[in-house]
Amino acid sequence: MSANRQNIPPPTIAAFAANRGPRVIVYCERIECFHHAAFDVREFGLPDELPVTDILRHRRFVCSQCGNRRVSIRPEPPRAPGQWIPGERQG
Ligand SMILES: [Zn+2]
Repeated sequence: MSANRQNIPPPTIAAFAANRGPRVIVYCERIECFHHAAFDVREFGLPDELPVTDILRHRRFVCSQCGNRRVSIRPEPPRAPGQWIPGERQG
């Protein structure tokens, strides 16, 4: 279900912090919940050379809203005007 088939290897923590800005957002995967929280990738205390996507193998997250342990991790979205931002709905 969660197999990633990406040709581009994920950035390491060091590369991510240098290029994309230090923050990632951890999302609850329960669609009804979708609680999310931002973290600085360096605050996990993991090696700089670890791929960002491997953070979830080394750190456990539990949703503070619903107790779900299935989470996903993504770069913090850029705040460009008109861009869709997860967690906000219209109508
Ligand atoms: Zn949740």
